[in-house]
Amino acid sequence: MGILEVKNVGKRFGGLQALSDVNLSVAENTVHAIIGPNGAGKSTLLNCLVGKLIPDSGSVMFDGQSVLGRAPYEINQMGISRVFQTPEIFGDLTVLENMMIPCFAKRDGAFELNALPSVSSQKDVMDRAMHMLEEMRMADKRNMHAAAMSRGDKRRLEIGMCLSQEPRLLLLDEPTAGMARADTNNTIDLLKQIKQERDITIAIIEHDMHVVFSLAERITVLAQGTPLVEDTPENIKGHPKVREAYLGE
Ligand code: ADP
Ligand code: MG
Repeated sequence: MGILEVKNVGKRFGGLQALSDVNLSVAENTVHAIIGPNGAGKSTLLNCLVGKLIPDSGSVMFDGQSVLGRAPYEINQMGISRVFQTPEIFGDLTVLENMMIPCFAKRDGAFELNALPSVSSQKDVMDRAMHMLEEMRMADKRNMHAAAMSRGDKRRLEIGMCLSQEPRLLLLDEPTAGMARADTNNTIDLLKQIKQERDITIAIIEHDMHVVFSLAERITVLAQGTPLVEDTPENIKGHPKVREAYLGE
């Protein structure tokens, strides 16, 4: 059984069946890519995994426990962390301050903006945040305004903010969308490094085939809200249905 088990999930928006009968099994400690044309339902599926949307039918199990009906923060505490399609960082804060936010949240369970932390507890949070920045190889940028960073560095910071929560499953929605090739390659290298250095499962939605084939061990192809095929990258590359539905051949 996979760490993530999606069974017969359906989701409708008014007259539109965005997902129907979706089955997906993500094995622990693998990188699993979900690909498919625009509008295939990839983001909708991801939103169903993190509690942002509730499926109309089916089940979503993480490590043997149902995530359905739980709030996003509860699912996050179960060990699922999610990176958004556009970087969700605080542009007016420094890189270090950004990294401190999830470190506070991790320590206190919930982050309360009006609960001012004591100076001593701030220090251990800062140490932890600095440690994460070192791991992300961006300690030298700690005093930079986050808004001033390149797209690739913003993504690197955001991924670090997710990792500071020590998730068991990291979900990424098109992490290289809108990036220049150099930033894309840096992101690929970062994800490879993360995979090498820790026990983590990564599920990645990605449009860029270069990214998919650089990282994924398994690939699920979604088309019109339903999985078309799930296989190894080698087999996906040569699959006639995939070439037709996805690569437009
Ligand atoms: P993908 O991420 O694969 O491009 P989405 O999951 O974003 O696809 O969208 C799947 C389909 O569901 C699309 O037709 C999209 O327009 C529709 N859709 C997504 N979110 C909503 C929503 N909140 N309300 C209505 N329709 C939506
Ligand atoms: Mg999407």
